[in-house]
Formats: sequence, structure tokens, C-alpha cells
Amino acid sequence: METVNIKDLDQYVGQDVELKGWVYSIRTIGKIWFVIFRDGTGLLQGVVVKGEATDETFSLEQKLHQEDSIIINGIVRKEPRSVGGYELGVKEIKVVNHVTEEYPITPKEHGADFLMSNRHLWLRSKRQNAIMRVRHQVVKAIRDYFDSNGFTLIDSPIFTGNAVEGTTTLFEVEYFERSAYLTQSGQLYQEAGATAFGKTYCFGPTFRAEKSKTRRHLTEFWMVEPEMAYVDLDENMTWAENLVGFIIKRVLEYCITELAVLERDTAQLESIVPPFPRITYDEAVKLLTDNGSDFEYGNDFGAPDETLLSEQYDKPLMIHRWPANIKAFYMKRDEQNNKLALGVDMIAPEGYGEIIGGGQREDDIDILIDRIRHHDLPLEPFKWYLDLRKYGSVPHSGFGLGLERTVAWICGTKHIRETIPFPRTMSRLEP
Ligand code: ATP
Ligand code: MG
Repeated sequence: METVNIKDLDQYVGQDVELKGWVYSIRTIGKIWFVIFRDGTGLLQGVVVKGEATDETFSLEQKLHQEDSIIINGIVRKEPRSVGGYELGVKEIKVVNHVTEEYPITPKEHGADFLMSNRHLWLRSKRQNAIMRVRHQVVKAIRDYFDSNGFTLIDSPIFTGNAVEGTTTLFEVEYFERSAYLTQSGQLYQEAGATAFGKTYCFGPTFRAEKSKTRRHLTEFWMVEPEMAYVDLDENMTWAENLVGFIIKRVLEYCITELAVLERDTAQLESIVPPFPRITYDEAVKLLTDNGSDFEYGNDFGAPDETLLSEQYDKPLMIHRWPANIKAFYMKRDEQNNKLALGVDMIAPEGYGEIIGGGQREDDIDILIDRIRHHDLPLEPFKWYLDLRKYGSVPHSGFGLGLERTVAWICGTKHIRETIPFPRTMSRLEP
């Protein structure tokens, strides 16, 4: 008999199959009982009827518990009323392992902290399964997007010797006789990549010692960072919006079941088709004040500002040309107005906040040296970075998209911690 997965049952209607998984719940109605079980690919209802199942199997009713591991076989039937649309006429259940203590996670409501402390088990639940599958598709979509558009994957290192944007949010680690920092962005290395390959990206974990306990900040999160030679800010924004459009399209194509489990309003996602609105920082500030905000020109937008701005649009919003003094040293200045930096942030709709930060990089070596000095950063560690301007400098741009924030928005999860398998925050390092 063939061992199959729940997600593929449509190909096995009328056939005898074997499935390997775990008990989700047991329910009895009169003389028959039901075992809902999961195999990691979905949920399936098994119907156990005396005579159809072996006597030994039928007598398991009182003996099975949530999370017992079982191998089950029977005949697949189409059953629209049943979870997943199919059911199994059970013939035999083999118990692989009995749970002897009560499983901590029950259908009743648990607090978020309790669930996070049991993250290793919580991942088995339907909702968490759905979120992780969406995450998987988003990762695949991101890779496919860049791989099919002429980008080369150039992994940036995780140990770095220099602090890209100051040391306040860096994790310092002992590194033999000296200190190293865990990377908070792979960008500088991508700039080297772009001048070697034209278009590159890195996609990996990044670390920030964020002391903010918000719903949007993790200390370890994944970021994809493309970098492109001969690309200016405008084209950079086009790449960014097309990436997001591609991700959404892919998720709508492959994750409809998951989005249904998450009760996500997919109409909202269907409207996410490029082009996205682009406004300047100045226009964004005006939009805020027109809407009654007391936002002060020159500041960075906080979460409530971003929410107010995103509510004005049903697509992601790109805000560009920022006051240079709140942006990083490597951002190129606007030729029309030297006080502005050619940066761009993309704000997700529905109040999910910033998902992308990027911009055009300074390509003039003298200006760059000046900025590094101005930011009180030591020149020595940037020697190699300055070489990129010394030898074959070109206009170039890039951005970083935060994976977890993107997944949170797509899934409609309030807190970003549910979008990564094992979240790391200020207060959580286990499990
Ligand atoms: P914020 O102001 O929200 O802290 P940032 O300006 O520090 O964001 P960038 O440095 O531009 O963010 O990083 C690029 C992207 O990485 C962000 O747009 C966001 O999607 C993601 N990101 C940044 N910090 C975090 C974090 N602590 N946890 C999860 N994702 C993050
Ligand atoms: Mg930050």
C-alpha cells in the first residue's frame, strides 16, 4: 500500500492508502468515532466504523490522545463537509507512540507568552502551520524573482569587523583577540557584489540589538538585500514594487488554503499590483499634518505616522527623498536639494509599517569620505568600501526587504513573532 500525504489525497479517491502522522483530536457520535489527524501537510478526518475497521483498531477509541503518533490506513473518499474536503474510511490504526502526559496545548485559549514558551509544540497547530507555509512560499518567491531577473546570489558575511550605521544596535561578540559584530545589514558587501556582477542579492539572517519592544522588531530577522549597478533611485523603486507584486501574486496562487485558515481578506491582497504610489518625504509630512497629526518636519516616521500614511492608500506606499541627517552616511544626496538623501521606504498597507528601506548610494569618493568623518565613523574599516568608488565607481542602488514584516502583513498577523519559527526578542531566547 502506498504511503501518501494529506495534501495529495485528491489523487487517491477510492484507493487504499497509508498515512503517517499524529492524532489531532478524537470525537464520538453514536456507534462510530472520528479521528482527526495531521501529517504535517494537512488535516484529515478518519471515520472508524465497527466491521470496516479491525476490532483492535475500533477498540482504540478510549486509548488515543492528542499527539499520539499513528500510522493509519483506509480508503479515501471525497467528503466536502469534512476538513480538507476528503475523509478516510479507516481500516487500521497502528500506534507508534502513546503520549503519556497531557499535551500542554489544548483547543482552549492560551496566552501568547505560554504559547511562545511552547513554540516547539505550537508550531504543530493549524494556524502556525499556515503561517510557516506562507513564509516558505514568500522565501521561494523572493529567490525566484531575483534568480529569474539576472541577479547573482552573493552571501554577505554574518561576522563583520565594522559597524555599518553606528554601534547602538549591534551585537558584539568575542572574536579571538578582538571584537566582531553580528551583521545588521549585508548591504556594503552587496555593493562590492554589484560592481563585480552587475546585480546581486543576499538573503539571510540579520541581527539588531533593538531595545524596542514593539510588534515589529525582532533581534534576529531575515532580510533580502538586492544591489544594482547603473541603477538610480527611480529604477530602484521599480524593482522594489515589482518584487512585492511578484511575492503577493505567488502567495495568492499557492497559499489560498493557508490564507483561508488565517481568515485573511484576500481581496486586500489582490489589489497589490504595481505601480505603487510614490511620494516625497515632504509630501508625506504634508499628508500627516493635513490629517491632523502634529508630526514635526525632520523626524523619522513612527509607527502611528506610518499607519496614518498607509491608510490613505490601498497599495504599499513608497516615500522617497528624506532629510539627509536622519539617513545613513552612504546615501547619495539629491542633486536638486543637497539637504535631501535619495532614500526610499516602502510602507505596507493596513498599518503593517515599513517593509523596505533602501536608496541610491553615494558614488563620489570625496563626498563619501566626508560623510564618514561627519558621522564620526573611523575611516580605516571602510577602506575596502571606498575602493569601490576608487575603481570603476558607478551610480548604484539597492534595498532591504524584511521577511517577517512582509509575512506578517500577508498573513494579517498582529505580531511579527509568529512569522519566524523560533523568534528572538529582547526577552526571548528560548526555545
Ligand atoms: P524600523 O525603523 O522599523 O526599525 P529600519 O529603518 O531600522 O526599520 P532598515 O534598516 O531600513 O529598517 O531595514 C530594512 C528592513 O528590514 C525594514 O524595512 C524592515 O522590513 C526590516 N527590519 C528592520 N529592523 C527589523 C527588526 N528589528 N525586526 C524585523 N524586521 C526588521
Ligand atoms: Mg530599526
